[in-house]
Amino acid sequence: MMIEVEIVPALNDNYIYIIHNKTKFLTSVLDPGDPDPVIKKLKEKNWQLNQIINTHHHFDHTDGNDKLIEMYNAELVAPVYDNQRINGVHLNVSDKDVIEIAGTSSNVIFTPGHTSGHICFYLNDEKILFSGDTLFNLGCGRVFEGSMEQMQDSLKKIINLPDETEVYCGHEYTLSNAKFCLSLQPNNIEIKKKYDEIVKKRNNNQFTVPFKLGEQKLLNPFLQFDNKDFIKTMNLNEKTETEIFEYLRNKKDNF
Ligand code: ZN
Ligand code: FE
Repeated sequence: MMIEVEIVPALNDNYIYIIHNKTKFLTSVLDPGDPDPVIKKLKEKNWQLNQIINTHHHFDHTDGNDKLIEMYNAELVAPVYDNQRINGVHLNVSDKDVIEIAGTSSNVIFTPGHTSGHICFYLNDEKILFSGDTLFNLGCGRVFEGSMEQMQDSLKKIINLPDETEVYCGHEYTLSNAKFCLSLQPNNIEIKKKYDEIVKKRNNNQFTVPFKLGEQKLLNPFLQFDNKDFIKTMNLNEKTETEIFEYLRNKKDNF
């Protein structure tokens, strides 16, 4: 693989990702909510930052933009839909755009819901997805600006990607998500197994990213809107797909 991803934990529970191309010696950073741990890691690796990319306008994903642009003269790539809310953008991107991230071809996927302008980035050759605050390990982002239906449609777009896709999400929320999953299906052996694995990882201070998309299709409750067994166990037969999603999202918000 010519692409290497460095995971940089930041703020309370954010993940910043540094994406480095070993062949072309190009480096990008995704969602730098804090510039300092990024600068530290770049120095340690002896990498020069070329590009900053943002999934959405929230401060915990963008607050480091200005300092990094100033220090490295890096190019800022951000969603066109957040044009008024992110400063200093050099390249505005929208749905289905193909851009280079660390010198490798990447698709822009418009995924509104968490915010109205949210985008995800998919590195085609590497099968790597940066899902921001749309898809989390065993969960999904809160619906702040979009509708429940929009968020669900965004998740549906994501699950069209290959099962072997490695997903890097915006936050370490996995333990709380795993607890929620288990509360929904306390008798599901697969969920219990996953829960135990996550507890162990977090107790050892390990990251729960990246994770495989195929596994999420089986275990993530927000992706089970057409899973007959799940719907039956949860007693959701009377509800439409969007109502099921809304029910789960509200339940998680109050968990
Ligand atoms: Zn956010
Ligand atoms: Fe966030």
